[in-house]
Amino acid sequence: MSFDTLGLHPEVLRAVREAGYEKPTPIQEQAIPQVIAGRDVLGIAQTGTGKTASFTLPMLTILAQGRSKARMPRTLILEPTRELAAQVAESFEVYGKHLKLTMALLIGGVSFADQEAKLNRGVDVLIATPGRLLDHFERGKVLLTGVQVLVVDEADRMLDMGFIPDVERICKLTPFTRQTLFFSATMPPEIQRITSAFLTNPVKIEV
Ligand code: AMP
Repeated sequence: MSFDTLGLHPEVLRAVREAGYEKPTPIQEQAIPQVIAGRDVLGIAQTGTGKTASFTLPMLTILAQGRSKARMPRTLILEPTRELAAQVAESFEVYGKHLKLTMALLIGGVSFADQEAKLNRGVDVLIATPGRLLDHFERGKVLLTGVQVLVVDEADRMLDMGFIPDVERICKLTPFTRQTLFFSATMPPEIQRITSAFLTNPVKIEV
C-alpha cells in the first residue's frame, strides 16, 4: 500500500513525500479514504500509530478542494492539552505547507490578543483546547457555523480532564450537517454515549 492511492490532494501528497513517509500506517490506510469520502469516523488508536496524519491529511485534502467565501473556520480540531494542540498545529503546517490555508491555534496560557488578531483576519482551520475556544466564543470572536469537519482527538483524556461538557457544548455550536471524527485510545461508557450522540453511522477503525 502506498500514499498514492488514498485520494490525497497532490500538494498534500508532495508534503507527505517531503516528510520522508514511505507508506501509510494501518490507521492512515483505513481512515484517509473514508474521511475524504465524507464519512464520520470513530478511531480507536493510541498516539504513535500515525493517528494525527490520519485526520490532518484528509482534512487538508477537503480544505484544498473547496473554498470558503466568508473565511469562517471550516475545520475544527479539539485537543485536551496545549502541548497536543501545538503538536497537531505543527503537523498541519508541515503537511499543508504547499497549500494557502490559514490556521489559528487557540490554547490557554498565552494572551488573547494574538489569537484574536488571527481570528479577525479569518482562518480556515482552528486547533483548540475546549476551554480557550469557548472563551473566544463567549467574547464573540469566533463563529462555528461554518465548520464542515470537526475532530475530537484523545476523547478519553478529555473525559479524564473533565472536558466532556465543554466538548458537547462545542459540538452543538457546529452545524448539524458537519462531518465528525472521534479518536480515543479507550472506549469508556461516557465516550460511547457521546459518540452515539454526535457521530452519524461512523466507520469504526481499531488499530
Ligand atoms: P502520531 O501517532 O500521529 O502521534 O504520529 C507518531 C509519529 O509518527 C509522528 O512523529 C509522525 O511524524 C510519524 N509518522 C506518522 N505517519 C507516518 C508514516 N506514514 N510514516 C512514517 N512516519 C510517520
